[in-house]
Amino acid sequence: MKNNLLEMTVEELKLFAAEMGEKPFRGKQLFKWIHSGVKDFDYMTNLSEAFRRKLSEKAEITGVEIIGEQRDRSDGTRKFLYRLADGETVEGVFMKYKYGNSLCLSSQVGCRMGCRFCASTADGLIRNLTAGEMLDQVYESEKYTGEKINHIVVMGMGEPFDNYENLARFLRLLHDPEGKNLSYRNMTVSTCGIVPAMKRFSEDFASVNLAVSLHRLTDKGRSEIMPVNKSYPLEKLLKACREYTENTGRRITFEYALINGVNDGARDVELIKEKLGGMLCHVNLIPLNKVEENNFRGTGRKRAADIALQLEKSGVPATVRRELGAEIDGACGQLRRKSDLHIAP
Ligand code: SAH
Repeated sequence: MKNNLLEMTVEELKLFAAEMGEKPFRGKQLFKWIHSGVKDFDYMTNLSEAFRRKLSEKAEITGVEIIGEQRDRSDGTRKFLYRLADGETVEGVFMKYKYGNSLCLSSQVGCRMGCRFCASTADGLIRNLTAGEMLDQVYESEKYTGEKINHIVVMGMGEPFDNYENLARFLRLLHDPEGKNLSYRNMTVSTCGIVPAMKRFSEDFASVNLAVSLHRLTDKGRSEIMPVNKSYPLEKLLKACREYTENTGRRITFEYALINGVNDGARDVELIKEKLGGMLCHVNLIPLNKVEENNFRGTGRKRAADIALQLEKSGVPATVRRELGAEIDGACGQLRRKSDLHIAP
């Protein structure tokens, strides 16, 4: 099997170059090419022809390919379907904000967390993405749109902390000053609440933003819609969140998908105030995106705005997430499940 150079750090590429009889600094040159999005060795004109030939025999640069797109022309949001080398597919969403472009990317094909309202988990986990496959969602999206991506959020398909090693390698590669050089502050990772990984993450990546999907604030209610709560119940999760903010000094984002009649009543709002009051946090209220696989419905925007106001008044910072890509099945997992309908020419 050929070595996939997209997965390798500068140091690993230096060793690789040396093993091929080249000076180690050639490894750094290779890294620069690869992380500027070049996949064909022939373009790497500062490497000798002989080395380039050897590279094409022994190595490859393989990630993802964009094979489908949905576009919301009203706000510039674009949703991509990426094909992996083995034919599996994942999704990502490119969003335009005042302060730059953001890509929401996937960390797994499918997911085994089983959240009942989520389309990505319907068929369980198929496989983890490699670091290269996560990275290449960024690079291919930049090439495809012709625009720079300034911020990434790991909030697409999958549970990133269920694929920790590859996630960590991906974040480090994206941060590397010889590569894309993206600041850790411009990266956000979202978890459904895998407590032990949260502690590890706060030590490994104190500057990367952490988002935690809460959605309900009683154990009984949360376990009903998020099975992970049975392994890591609320008190343990909220304790880990408090430790996170204390250890890192960083604000934590709580995601709260508003589901009509499930978690948007007066008592639910009281629980949010009670449990999150005083924490260094921000609550992101997201009216649930309708998915075909279940009967859950999102809360109306008026009620959502009202909940945000109530929380703000009691000192819990909260906003209703701007509705981006509403016309294009904003919720992750949906494009993939309909992929036969949306293959680009
Ligand atoms: N597994 C991670 C990251 C991927 S999901 C996590 O759970 O945080 C990203 C966010 O989208 C999570 O908050 C998830 O609960 C939410 N989500 C899933 N399905 C949704 C839907 N149909 N509408 C709105 N948000 C949804």
